[in-house]
Amino acid sequence: MKIKSLSYLLFIPFLFFQCSNEKPKTILIYNATIMDGTGSDSYLGSVRIKDKLILEVGDLQKLKTDSIIDGNGLILSPGFIDSHSHHGSDTLRSKDAALSQGITTIIVGQDGFSEQPLNIFLDSITKTPWSINMGTYTGHNSIREQVMGNDFKRVATDSEIEEMASILEAEMKLGSLGLSTGLEYDSGIYSNSEEVIALAKVASRKGGRYISHMRNEDKYLEQSIDEIIRIGKEAKIPVQISHFKLARKGLWGQASGFLQKLDSARTEGIDITADIYPYEYWQSTMTVLFPDRDFNNRATAEYALTELTTPEGMIIGRFDAKPEYENMTLDKIAELRKEDVITTYLVLIEMSQAHPSESIIAKSMDLEDIVTILNWSYTNLCSDGSPNGHPRGWGSFPRYLHMETGQSLETKINKMTLQVAKNLNIDSIGIIKKGFYADLVLFNPKTIKDNATFSEKTLRSDGINCVFVSGKIVYTNNAPTEVFPGRIIKKRS
Ligand SMILES: [Zn+2]
Repeated sequence: MKIKSLSYLLFIPFLFFQCSNEKPKTILIYNATIMDGTGSDSYLGSVRIKDKLILEVGDLQKLKTDSIIDGNGLILSPGFIDSHSHHGSDTLRSKDAALSQGITTIIVGQDGFSEQPLNIFLDSITKTPWSINMGTYTGHNSIREQVMGNDFKRVATDSEIEEMASILEAEMKLGSLGLSTGLEYDSGIYSNSEEVIALAKVASRKGGRYISHMRNEDKYLEQSIDEIIRIGKEAKIPVQISHFKLARKGLWGQASGFLQKLDSARTEGIDITADIYPYEYWQSTMTVLFPDRDFNNRATAEYALTELTTPEGMIIGRFDAKPEYENMTLDKIAELRKEDVITTYLVLIEMSQAHPSESIIAKSMDLEDIVTILNWSYTNLCSDGSPNGHPRGWGSFPRYLHMETGQSLETKINKMTLQVAKNLNIDSIGIIKKGFYADLVLFNPKTIKDNATFSEKTLRSDGINCVFVSGKIVYTNNAPTEVFPGRIIKKRS
């Protein structure tokens, strides 16, 4: 009895220690190939997480406080950051589409369109948190429409610009990352450079940035690049080209020439950067190829279908006017309607005037240019994706990891993490480093691959093993875990 009670007594401190640490306070991911986001060589090591942050990185011993995860030699990198995302449009499906690619942060408010007003938007995310982090730009088109209403087919007056400026200023105070424009879309297409510069100056004064779907990406690409460089110079603001592309056959093969132009602007002190998605097909509206808004002009339609894309390369996405045309190519629809392709294109646009919900996917880019742009030092990867529509919404990041670009895996990871954080001027994410947020992705470099295609757009990618946001597992075993630790990403103050 005596011995028993003695051993019982001796056991008490141990039991007490165990009880007080019933719930592990830290997570140790060991035996992982760490690619830290900086582009430096990878190494086998461990990462310890405490609460939302990375506590330690390196050759770490297991502690009693650790909950242990074996990395099995897989690659552990910072969570991917998507600098141009439309995943904010469908909260339920977005987490699956984004997380299954290893994306832990999305930046919305793109192409000139943002949720207005920002305080209500932020409030809704605070009340119903997401699995992923989200930051937003303030959209020029959105604030323009707020001020000008339906009377937007003109340049804004000085007082209207002042009104837009005060909305933008208020949004910058709330944490908006800056001004986004969509100058190829209504209503931004009717603005002039001076209007944009006046607003970009407001964003600049508040430490924000400028990100733009430029005025044109095909026929007037050169002039559009001149415009964004001018905006950067006159507003003294860092500028980013959204989804950079050479979307005209006559320009194919000239990516390095355009990059030289951007490099010269950088030499002059203009902080110009770009993002890009790894597909030869874009997705937009049917009318985007009509810069002069002459929607019944056969010559414009013919130019679009010969120089910018092809009838076989144009896939109808959403088409509320006649849903049976969805997922068909333009040439097939023309065949069905017994018309020539130009007539059909113009008829579809006319039909869409009464039922404006429409989208098209079209092939306009050359793979070689995409690879050249990806290799530019100031490019970062983006998806430009949404949960529905184009396979990029489900596959961009694994596709880039899988594709042949002549880059090391470390460089690719850098362009999906730290380079993105730099191009957005946000801190505390994008590197595996003590004190940074524990937004991480564990993936298998041998099996990583996108599966979404133009006929099956919502297939998950292979190879993403585990995704962490704020130190919590949000995706594992090919499924979201229904945990919602997402944070709101605000402009660095
Ligand atoms: Zn865009």
